[in-house]
Amino acid sequence: MVDVRKIRLILDLREAGISNSKVLSALEKIPREKFIPNTFRNQAYENIALPIGEEQTISQPYIVALMTEMLNIEKHHKILELGTGSGYQTCILSLLSRRVYSIERIKKLLIKAENMFNMLKLTNIVTKHGDGNLGWPEQIPFDRIIFTAATKAISENIFNHISNNGIIIAPIISHNSQKLKKFTKKDNEIVEEDIENVLFVPNLSGIQN
Ligand code: SAH
Repeated sequence: MVDVRKIRLILDLREAGISNSKVLSALEKIPREKFIPNTFRNQAYENIALPIGEEQTISQPYIVALMTEMLNIEKHHKILELGTGSGYQTCILSLLSRRVYSIERIKKLLIKAENMFNMLKLTNIVTKHGDGNLGWPEQIPFDRIIFTAATKAISENIFNHISNNGIIIAPIISHNSQKLKKFTKKDNEIVEEDIENVLFVPNLSGIQN
C-alpha cells in the first residue's frame, strides 16, 4: 500500500517541476514513514509537512525535493545542514554526496535522527548537538549549505563556510513571510536568487536538551 502512495507522490513531484532523476530516486529510496510518529504515519506519502515532536516538523516532500534539486549536488560534495530535525532531509543529502555534516539544537530530536541513520546504514553522516548559526569551523570549506529552519539573514560566519562556486539554500524571513533563496559564491561575491514562498519553523539560537 505504501508503495502505491509513494509512486503517486513521486509522480506528483515530477508534475510539480522536480526533474532531477537522482533527487527523485533518493526520495524513492528513503522510507519517509519511518521518520514520522505513529499517529501520522498513514499520511507519510502525502505531500504535507507533519509534526515530529518538540514543536518541530518534517518538511513537505516537495520542499525537500526542491531544496535538494536547487543545491545541484555532486557526488564528491561535502554538505553542511543546519537543523537535522527528523533526519529525513539529511538522508536524502547523504545518498547524493560524499559526506553530510548536520547540526541540531534539540538533543532529543538529534538522538532519534542518529538512530535512523544507523538503522538505514548511512555511514557518511556526521552530527553535532549545537547551535547551527555558529557553523562547523573545523570542517570549512563546504561545497553546499542548507538551512532547514527560517532565518532573518545569513551571517558572515556562514558565508565564510562555503567554497568558491558553493551554494547555500535557505528560507529567509522578510516582514511576515518567508522566501526560499539561493546564494551562490562567485569569486567572493554572493549572488542571491529568489526561489519561492515557503513556511518553515524558525531558526532559534542556543541549544535544548
Ligand atoms: N528537514 C528537516 C526538518 C527540520 S525542522 C526534516 O526533514 O525533518 C528544522 C529543525 O531545525 C528543527 O529540528 C529545529 O530544532 C532545528 N533548528 C532550528 N534552529 C536551529 C539552529 N540554530 N541550529 C540547529 N538546529 C536548529
